[in-house]
Amino acid sequence: MTELTARSLQGVRCAADIIKASHQAVVLSGAGISTPSGIPDFRSSHGGLWERYDPYEVASLSAFRYNPGRFFDWLRPLAHTLLSAQPNPAHFSLARLESAGIIKTIITQNIDRLHQRAGSSNVLEIHGSLDTMTCVGCFHQFAAEEYIQAYLRESLIPVCPHCHSVLKPDVILYGEQLPHRTWLKAMEASKTCDLMIVIGSSLEVLPVAGLPMRAVENGAHLIIMNRTETYIDVRADVVFGEDVAEILPLIVKEVLGD
Ligand SMILES: [Zn+2]
Repeated sequence: MTELTARSLQGVRCAADIIKASHQAVVLSGAGISTPSGIPDFRSSHGGLWERYDPYEVASLSAFRYNPGRFFDWLRPLAHTLLSAQPNPAHFSLARLESAGIIKTIITQNIDRLHQRAGSSNVLEIHGSLDTMTCVGCFHQFAAEEYIQAYLRESLIPVCPHCHSVLKPDVILYGEQLPHRTWLKAMEASKTCDLMIVIGSSLEVLPVAGLPMRAVENGAHLIIMNRTETYIDVRADVVFGEDVAEILPLIVKEVLGD
């Protein structure tokens, strides 16, 4: 563990006090909470796993319709990484705060289901997840794991057992609308919370980037944990730039007094 500065320690105490005083805390999580679990941020990483394709070209709705084979080829390393990743101490810390009745909702941009696997139950997946797939022909929904495993093993592109159309993972692709009901719940949670904790999101993409502003404008406190600066740092009560898998457990320890 890296040595925390006096300023960070003060931040930990300050964040813990704000969390303890809150009644309606909401978390907004992005790729940065899952990088300690070995999942790279595929939107911002250059090279590495996804260097063969530009995700904007392959992982868009029109590209999927035009060439699903290319999409699944792009998805292969991501699916492989997601299926083998494990929740890290940051995910577990949030699950503890949810069981303690402090965190009411987690709004996540991640499709990895690591929050749920760590024990959180009230999770709004605004970019969908790889857990299910939907037929583009008859709109039947299927559990995805079996199909994805078959793809990873034998490169079989998932097709619908009823109508033989391609199955599309229920992740939100570029150019696709956010899931309407989930998005409305995320907006409502942001408007009614008295504390928003942003974890591992650079808040660069609208409309999600607007959620913390909505919270702050309704009088909520704001805690930000992100490696890089965000546009709303100036409005935050506390800002952390450290590894979230180190900072969050310290804060939760302070909050729960253990
Ligand atoms: Zn079908």
